[in-house]
Amino acid sequence: MKKIEHIGIAVKDLEKSNALFKQLLGKSHYKTEEVISEGVKTSFFKSGPNKIELLEATDSESPIAKFIEKKGEGIHHIAFAVDDILAEVKRLEKEGFTILNSTPKKGADNKLVVFLHPKSTNGVLIELCQEVEGK
Ligand code: ZN
Repeated sequence: MKKIEHIGIAVKDLEKSNALFKQLLGKSHYKTEEVISEGVKTSFFKSGPNKIELLEATDSESPIAKFIEKKGEGIHHIAFAVDDILAEVKRLEKEGFTILNSTPKKGADNKLVVFLHPKSTNGVLIELCQEVEGK
């Protein structure tokens, strides 16, 4: 894995949280994006070389809605950038991690994403993401 790509934070109200994080970081989010297949609306902030992704559920079946129901708002996942997501999935499977989707799916921010089950990673949902080429 190359680096932490972003930290994902589950929020109840994206608009309110956009305002809050603008106050916190001293600058606005640079984009918003809806990922319909995941039932989420996202916004992205930059803090130096690092990114923060805020996630709001767009329907009650969304994983984000379920997360907030169980745990409340807060850090939802840590995403790591990888060069070859399929090779990384294979490696991690061999190491005994539980992969939630071995077939990468399209996530926000022009990325292919795979999630690891938090039960195999000390309770932290891990996202692997690979930049999709040719935007
Ligand atoms: Zn993410």
